[in-house]
Amino acid sequence: MDLSAIPLFDHHCHALRRSGAVLDGPALRRHFSESADPAMTPHLLHSLFYRRGLRDLAELLGCAPTEEALVAARQRIAPEDYAGQLITAANITVMAVDTGFRGAENYTLDEQRAFLPCTIYEVLRLETLAEELITATTSFAQLEDAYRAALTDLRSRGIVALKSIAAYRGGLQVQARSRAEAEAVYPALKEAVRRDGRVRLSSRPLLEYVLRIGLEAAAVQELPVQFHTGFGDADADLRSANPLHLRPLLQDEALRGMRFVLLHTYPYVREAGYLAGIYSHVYADLSLTIPFTAHGGVAAIRAALELAPTSKVLLATDAFSIPELFYLGALYAREGLAGALQQLQAEGWLIAAEVEAAAQQMLYGNAAELYGVER
Ligand SMILES: [Zn+2]
Repeated sequence: MDLSAIPLFDHHCHALRRSGAVLDGPALRRHFSESADPAMTPHLLHSLFYRRGLRDLAELLGCAPTEEALVAARQRIAPEDYAGQLITAANITVMAVDTGFRGAENYTLDEQRAFLPCTIYEVLRLETLAEELITATTSFAQLEDAYRAALTDLRSRGIVALKSIAAYRGGLQVQARSRAEAEAVYPALKEAVRRDGRVRLSSRPLLEYVLRIGLEAAAVQELPVQFHTGFGDADADLRSANPLHLRPLLQDEALRGMRFVLLHTYPYVREAGYLAGIYSHVYADLSLTIPFTAHGGVAAIRAALELAPTSKVLLATDAFSIPELFYLGALYAREGLAGALQQLQAEGWLIAAEVEAAAQQMLYGNAAELYGVER
C-alpha cells in the first residue's frame, strides 16, 4: 500500500533553524534523539531511526548512506532550496507551526512562507506568550491585561490552535488558582528577568492561572488546544505527562467548546486512544512517536485505534530545526499507517474502502476539520 499521494496536514511541527549554522555529523545526529545527555552522541549512530533515516535520505539525495555523505550533500544546496525540496518530497501541503520553541534561532513564519511550498498556520504557545509578557510588563495587572489582549481574535491572525507545555513544567495535574495566588509569585519572576534577562515559567500558581485564561479564550473562540503529553522533552517527568491527569479539565463543562489535542502520547498511546474514544472533544496525535520510535509506529497506530475511532487520531511530524525530520516524519507516518491498516484489513477489522478513507482521515482530513481550515 502506497500512501504517498495523500498529502500530510502537519498539524504539529516547529520552525526551521535559520541558515548559517553548518552542522557536523554529531550536531546533525543529535536532532534524531530527545536525549539531552552529550555522552549519548556516539550511541545515537546506532539508533534504528537514525540508521534507517540515513539510508532513506541518501536515496532521496543520491548520496552514499553515511553520515559524512549526508553532511556533505546537505551543504551543496542552498538551505532554503534544500528545505523546499524535502517538504515537496514529504508531500506536506499544510503546516501548523508551534512558534514557542527556539524563537530567535528560527525563521519567522513569513520567511518560511516565502520558500516552502505549503500553507503555514501558527500555533501559539501559552507559556511562551506569558514569559514574553512577564519580561515586558511591570505589574501583574499589566501582565494579565496584555495576555488577555493577545488571546483575542486569534483566527484572524492565522492562529489555528493554542498549545500548552504544562506537561514538562510540573505536569498535567492542573489546579484551579486564584488571581491572588498568581499575583503573589509575579515579583519573583520579575526578579529572574532582572537577574537572567529572561524567565522560565515553571511557577505553578501563575502557570495554571494563565493556562486557565487561555483555555477559556479557546473555548469561546472554538479553537483547539494542543497539550504536550508523554515523552519528548528532557525536562519532562514522564510520570506526570500521562494524559489521564487531564481528566478534571476534560470533564469541565466550561471548556466543552474547545477541543483537546493530546500530542505525541508515547508511551501513553493507549491512554490517549481511550480518552479520544470516550470524549467527543479529545483527539489523539502520534507525532514524535512516529518517527522517533522507529518500527514502533505500526504498534502505536494499532494501539490508538483500539478505542479511538479513525476520525479521532492524527499523524504529524513534530519536526523541528532541520528539514530532514519533516521528510522522515512524513515518510514513516505513511509507512506506519499503511502497515497498521493493512494488518487490520487482513485481520478483518477493515475493508479496502474503509482503509482508504481512514488513511485520508488520519493524514489530512481530521486535522482540516479540527483546525477549521481546508488548505
Ligand atoms: Zn512539538
